[in-house]
Amino acid sequence: MTWVITSLCRDKVDMACVEVCPVDCIVKRTDESAEWPNQLYIDPDECISCGVCEPECPWEAIFEDEQVPEIFQPDVALNAKIIDERDEFEVPERDDDVDVPSPDDVEANKAKWGYAG
Ligand code: SF4
Ligand code: SF4
Repeated sequence: MTWVITSLCRDKVDMACVEVCPVDCIVKRTDESAEWPNQLYIDPDECISCGVCEPECPWEAIFEDEQVPEIFQPDVALNAKIIDERDEFEVPERDDDVDVPSPDDVEANKAKWGYAG
């Protein structure tokens, strides 16, 4: 079992999860591309499934792999793909100037992705 960051993180990337991960397995791609959009990913080989990142995410973007909603299933494979390209990822540093989203912001982001959860 591992945990997965979904598209709900896309272009949010406030990195609240990075600060609490005890094994530094939450990473960012060093370059952006259509295949690797601007979000964070969890290295499934390194994740110890402690779950402490999930409640820290203001955008509710993190799920246990077995609980990932159907609409975000492609993110399971994308997070897992890190293993093959590990050199292209790094643990990012958090910018101190991050806005906390309102409940309406969070719901609007979910709606954008077609997720009602
Ligand atoms: S579940 Fe624990 S080890 Fe895995 S990414 Fe979250 S904080 Fe890190
Ligand atoms: S806390 Fe959530 S939204 Fe912020 S970077 Fe981590 S997964 Fe993305």
